[in-house]
Amino acid sequence: MKQPIIIALDGTSASGKSTNAKLVAKALNYVYVDTGAMYRTLAWYCLKQKADIHDPRAVARVCRTWKPSLVCADGQVRLLVEGYYPEREIRTAETSAAVPHVAAVPQVREWMKKKQRECVQFGNLVMEGRDIGTNVFPETEFKFYLDASLEERSKRRAAEGIQENLAARDQRDSQRAVAPLMIPLGAMVINNSRMSAAETSRLILEAVRGRLGAKQ
Ligand code: C5P
Repeated sequence: MKQPIIIALDGTSASGKSTNAKLVAKALNYVYVDTGAMYRTLAWYCLKQKADIHDPRAVARVCRTWKPSLVCADGQVRLLVEGYYPEREIRTAETSAAVPHVAAVPQVREWMKKKQRECVQFGNLVMEGRDIGTNVFPETEFKFYLDASLEERSKRRAAEGIQENLAARDQRDSQRAVAPLMIPLGAMVINNSRMSAAETSRLILEAVRGRLGAKQ
């Protein structure tokens, strides 16, 4: 059986991962997986359950007992909690601040990795996150790492009406003990501070198509 192709897109917060992952997925007709949204969904659920997100054991307990379903609709994978996707709730400032704590818990990372690897059941994937090329699909040949200056990234968030301490979140994500944010070995690094999304996604698509063509 042909193995699904996985395009791993990692990088800092607000470096354009979501925009570019969606553009690349659309151009190639691959399924888009936002792993940040999966971590956000668990963080939201922990807050809803009134679990202490600063207590790794409490977070691990919630993760052990929740039973979300993994679904693919309209070319996107989502975790549904009792059939519900908390689209708005996972983007609040409260959830954004909670998610790096939840994401640092080893049992959570193990659970997420398993679910994320199960996504191959939906076909070829563009998966964005922080540890996709290093930890979730280290075997893929298609690895990209996006970054931009902190000033530019903060501007992008502000334009979306979101004021957030991105540096603090990146620091937590980079310094955690398990699967920290880092550049995957062999990844193509793109600093898109002065690039549009169209230019960034074009670079990614050229690299992917070049490699796919070379394999045929
Ligand atoms: O990508 P997004 O900003 O939505 O991710 C939210 C948070 O989820 C990150 O700051 C990080 O703490 C966590 N995350 C992670 N590993 C991933 C994706 C997201 O730890 N693969």
